[in-house]
Amino acid sequence: MNIHEYQGKEILRSYGVAVPNGRVAFTVEEAVEAAKELGSEICVVKAQIHAGGRGKAGGVKVAKSLDEVRTYASELLGKVLVTHQTGPEGKEVKRLLIEEGCDIKKEYYIGLVVDRATSRVVLMGSEEGGTEIEEVAAKTPEKIFKEYIDPAVGLQAFQARRMAFNINIPKELVNQAVKFMMGLYQVFVEKDCSIAEINPLVITGDGKVMALDAKLNFDSNALYRHKELLEYRDLDEEDPKEIEASKYDLNYIALDGNIGCMVNGAGLAMATMDIIKYYGGEPANFLDVGGGATAEKVTEAFKIILSDPKVKGIFVNIFGGIMKCDVIATGIVEATKQVGLELPLVVRLEGTNVELGKKILEESGLNITAAESMADGAQKIVELVG
Ligand code: GDP
Ligand code: MN
Repeated sequence: MNIHEYQGKEILRSYGVAVPNGRVAFTVEEAVEAAKELGSEICVVKAQIHAGGRGKAGGVKVAKSLDEVRTYASELLGKVLVTHQTGPEGKEVKRLLIEEGCDIKKEYYIGLVVDRATSRVVLMGSEEGGTEIEEVAAKTPEKIFKEYIDPAVGLQAFQARRMAFNINIPKELVNQAVKFMMGLYQVFVEKDCSIAEINPLVITGDGKVMALDAKLNFDSNALYRHKELLEYRDLDEEDPKEIEASKYDLNYIALDGNIGCMVNGAGLAMATMDIIKYYGGEPANFLDVGGGATAEKVTEAFKIILSDPKVKGIFVNIFGGIMKCDVIATGIVEATKQVGLELPLVVRLEGTNVELGKKILEESGLNITAAESMADGAQKIVELVG
């Protein structure tokens, strides 16, 4: 789960990690009011969307008066911001962070992620903050430093100090930087983050070390033990199809292609996407309806696939083990009754109650192409979609 910058900063602040003073605003009036309350001569007006690259896209404005706060707030609210992370369709700005301006002396990068190769949390840092860290990693990887963290003892002060020296934090600010990194690590572990990225971390003219930006991602599998984080969820930032799917406990991820997939089991769902690509097609989604799906759940899943205007054909690939083929068939027939189906549909059924499932589909009068195997089905749907 992703959250907004201002929410991330709220969490950091509660852990004693230094961030500038700021307030969220949903309207122009609230933005001006927030700036007044902050009482700072210079304010920064920041678009809050679940994507980075806002600075370059005009989503971060420095205002030198309340009038300018008003102007920038009205410009940004309702604007569709296109950054290199939003895709060409962009994201509409519905919230702003109004923050005390700060006198930036230098920008750094600090991030914590899980490193799959070592199965450890790794602290990464660079002197090249502010810009895209991906670019630094590609062009000058020697400017990125790493500290692998032993899960038994956590981030050690000497590691944070070594990082501060490696990225050339001025000597007199090293202690502050160490405190910052230790606090960030505590947030990462206690909140079950998958990413905690501060870009930029800044040192200011008056000798402070703080987070000017904050990107926190949380492991969705751990959210059950963080009820407090659920309040930060912003459904406006999520794909409506994925929200609908989560209501029915379906594992659905929207993708860019045009072949809708309905599959049981995460492994088979992955393999199905692979084989569609192998035959030259592009999957429109990942969907695992799960083992114990009911006909109702299958109906909803099918409706979600059909609600995607990009979908030009559907491939149902079911290996009935716990899941029974007749249940899937009933769900498909029910869904098409409710929403209609003009698209080509290729079905490969195998396993428990397969004969019954095939019979239900045959008698439904739907225009279904039966497939003999997974490869056969993938080839057929790719052909039909064209
Ligand atoms: P991102 O582009 O979405 O990652 O947004 P950031 O929050 O990182 O902001 C982008 C850039 O805007 C930063 O690297 C800073 O250079 C600048 N910026 C952000 N906040 C302030 C501020 O308070 N004062 C000044 N002068 N610049 C800021
Ligand atoms: Mn940033």
